[in-house]
Amino acid sequence: MGHCQQSGRDILDPHLGRYAARTAGMTASEIRALFAVASRPEVVSLAGGMPHLAALPLEALAAQAAQLIAEDGLTALQYASAHGLPQLREQICEVMALEGVTGHPDEVVVTVGSQMGLDLVARLFCDPGDVVLAEGPSYVGALGSFAAYQAEVVHVPVDDRGLVPEGLRAALRQARNAGRRVKLLYTIPNFHNPSGVTLAVERRAEVLEICRAYGVLVLEDNPYGLLGFDGRTYPALHSLDPENVVYLGSFSKTFAAGLRVGWVLAPHAVREKLVLAAESATLCPPTLNQMIVSRYLATQDWRGQITTLREVYRERRDAMLDALEEYLPGCGWTEPAGGFYVWVKVPEGVDTRAMLPRAVAARVAYASGTGFYTNGLGSRRMRLSYCYPTPERIREGVRRLASVLDSEPALAHASAGAGPQRAALRTLAPEAV
Ligand code: PMP
Repeated sequence: MGHCQQSGRDILDPHLGRYAARTAGMTASEIRALFAVASRPEVVSLAGGMPHLAALPLEALAAQAAQLIAEDGLTALQYASAHGLPQLREQICEVMALEGVTGHPDEVVVTVGSQMGLDLVARLFCDPGDVVLAEGPSYVGALGSFAAYQAEVVHVPVDDRGLVPEGLRAALRQARNAGRRVKLLYTIPNFHNPSGVTLAVERRAEVLEICRAYGVLVLEDNPYGLLGFDGRTYPALHSLDPENVVYLGSFSKTFAAGLRVGWVLAPHAVREKLVLAAESATLCPPTLNQMIVSRYLATQDWRGQITTLREVYRERRDAMLDALEEYLPGCGWTEPAGGFYVWVKVPEGVDTRAMLPRAVAARVAYASGTGFYTNGLGSRRMRLSYCYPTPERIREGVRRLASVLDSEPALAHASAGAGPQRAALRTLAPEAV
């Protein structure tokens, strides 16, 4: 995608002028641009969202993969249906049932990660100029998919209880008055990326009713729903209105991201079109990887594995919140009850995007807030991930971040005489995230 950005390299690109108009919306995300630098070992990366894999039963998985190929290789290494393997689709229904979803295996389409689900749904529903509503802030990969189909994302306000229904109503009214066509509400109800907040249960029916009233389809993205730190799950939006919700799920956060196995659960008519779109994208999802996931679910203690992951992430969340409390008293932040991310508000005068190179020079990386909006907001926000580094590294990363913040020109000046003003910021968290 980098070649689609206007850059020095474009001048040398002999194909410039040939690209389809839709490539104009394809730019490297700020996070991706950061990836190379942030993954140097001396940098504490609080930037990416890489899941913790160390607790996986690697030897058992290796033996199973070898056995699959030895005993069932002629199936595992062959093309299969674009719909996904039937046994895996049944198992996916069991996984979804943990959050109240009662889908039928026929309505499930297996995808190459839920990212492909996002792409397929955008492909099916978005014409250039259509509006997609999404939380402000929202998942950067989804913003990329909508941009690739030339849809315009309009952000809906979020507070510490998730999407604000009144804000949703206002956005829909405004779009209607402007004669715009709103196709989708894209929402991450549980342990949101990047804000860390969860949509309050009592708001869920209201959000669905509003979308029904305005004739807008809901796209529910739920990769983190089983990663609540107290083991609690929330009723999926799909479970409350299955005919008007397309649901995206993934094994990336609860099992292995590198296998790239996710799924879409959609009402029958949509499902048929999804299979056709999936066929033209990949012919079929990887057969071997689907079989690895299926066998893992059938033979390993995957529920126990999720419990272990919850514990690991809870410990890291606690380390993050403790370090923020100790080192960044001038900032505000959300307090996630699950998932991977804390959304931090920095003091006035600090621009997180401009500060990032200084942070990387001080050997700490984060994702600046602007990448999670399509409208230029977010310069006083940053996303900190606690999923990958150990608690000690998290602490060290936040300590480094504090020293970077302290030497920001705007704050170095303010902190000389305005300590109480900075401390007061903490008490504002997390009003509007
Ligand atoms: N949706 C959200 C909210 C995510 O955070 C991610 C991964 N960071 C994805 C979708 C994509 O996940 P995958 O393609 O690995 O299933």
